[in-house]
Amino acid sequence: MTHDEFRELLAAAALDSLEGEEARELAAHLDSCPTCPDELAELRLAAGWIGFDADPVAPPPALRDRVLAAVTASAPAPRAEPVRKPARVSRSATAFVGFALAAGIATLVVYTAGLKTRVHTIESQLEAERSLTRFLTAPDTATIMLAGTETTPKARVKLAYDRHTGRAILFGYDLPPPPQGKAYQMWFIAGGKPLPGRVFEPDATGRGWWSDEVPPEGRDASVFAVTLEPASGVAAPTGPMVLKSVSLS
Ligand SMILES: [Zn+2]
Repeated sequence: MTHDEFRELLAAAALDSLEGEEARELAAHLDSCPTCPDELAELRLAAGWIGFDADPVAPPPALRDRVLAAVTASAPAPRAEPVRKPARVSRSATAFVGFALAAGIATLVVYTAGLKTRVHTIESQLEAERSLTRFLTAPDTATIMLAGTETTPKARVKLAYDRHTGRAILFGYDLPPPPQGKAYQMWFIAGGKPLPGRVFEPDATGRGWWSDEVPPEGRDASVFAVTLEPASGVAAPTGPMVLKSVSLS
């Protein structure tokens, strides 16, 4: 077989659907060819992406059918072999090469669609992180640290909020799991009056982050606190204070 003939087998090899003599001959060719090993590695990577993708993106059925039809139609016809050489490209082998090629191209179509989804996800995450960084470093953003009281001495909550818009983010650390039916609730205490913030629950590691909005009257609050309340939240605090602000910046 020639280099080009081996190349046609690479897609099938990448999908582990090559057997017998063809597999052995390809293995021998891979030892001596300067380009086929790299091409096979790329095709294997493409096949692997689909295997590892939790949510593979299938090409539209019509597109897939068109690709399959086009490739099957253009599969090489059986050639007239030189007389001194036994014919090795049988009709079924040709059909197989066509199928393997079609499978390879279909694989790459799925791979490309999956890759676009992945790139889009990464771009979205990156944009979310940039937006968070802009928010945290903005001159109008105030940062408040809340420390745990005697009941939850290790707990910490960091509150960052925009003094003008009230847009806020809470970051929680070492928060014990609240009792059944209970949750933590944020309070902005202005002029001795507690204004309700959001209700939140940490994850299994005691951490979490939540968006919130500080009401206009609470943006100059001197005390920020967290109490333990019914999970649905309350308009005025009823439970014990578990965290309290320790510094302003
Ligand atoms: Zn080669």
